[in-house]
Parts: sequence; C-alpha cells; structure tokens
Amino acid sequence: MKYEVKRACGHVEKVELFGPHKDREWRLKKEAEKKCLQCRANTAVPGLPMLEGTPKQVAWANDIRSNILRQVESLRSEIDRLFPDHPETEKVTRAIEGFVAELVTKTSASWWIDNRTMAIREEILKRLN
Ligand SMILES: [Zn+2]
Repeated sequence: MKYEVKRACGHVEKVELFGPHKDREWRLKKEAEKKCLQCRANTAVPGLPMLEGTPKQVAWANDIRSNILRQVESLRSEIDRLFPDHPETEKVTRAIEGFVAELVTKTSASWWIDNRTMAIREEILKRLN
C-alpha cells in the first residue's frame, strides 16, 4: 500500500509499506524523519565527492558508501586497539588508508551499488602485498 509522507525536508513523497498494519503508523513516522530521495541525492557528504547517477541510485549509493566507509573505519580502530604495538599494524593501517583513498575516488553511484557486498577484509588483504 502506498502512503504520502511529508519528509523531514518538507517534500511530500509516496512510500510503499508492506507487512503488518499495526506497525505502519510507527514506520510512517520513521519515514517522515528521513529526507526525500531527491534531497538525499543532493546532499553533499562532508569530505566526500557527490555521486553521479539517478536520484534513486545516488540516494542508495550514498547509504552504501557511508556504510562501507564506516565498516572500514571501525576495522581500523579495532586493529589499532587490539594490536597497538604489533609490527604489522602500521603496514595494515597503510593498506587500509590506501583502500579508503581508492574508495573515495569512486563517484559512480552504480559502482557502489555493484560493489555493495564487497568483502572489505579481503580487499584490504589484497593491498597488503
Ligand atoms: Zn526533499
């Protein structure tokens, strides 16, 4: 069923909800806290380039990109925390930084969508050699 939702940005957007009726009011409230697709696509993420694609692709790819960068960042802090004095830590950290530097050059929304399930640890391991 489709509902009209007034988004946080003030634009009205149609949202399709499935599942039990009793949750719908709560889910519509959650949806109302988000910005609309167009605004999400047009919002620059500080420190990152704007992505290219249709508004729908860009909005999705922005979420994928933040999610992947967040996972890489948490991996880096985990390594720092667990192995602060390990001789390999610096090497791994450099590999992670190189990986992030490559990731932030990717500006095609479809690239992020195609790579949304990338194996982050393996990507970093590949860059260790
Ligand atoms: Zn909007």
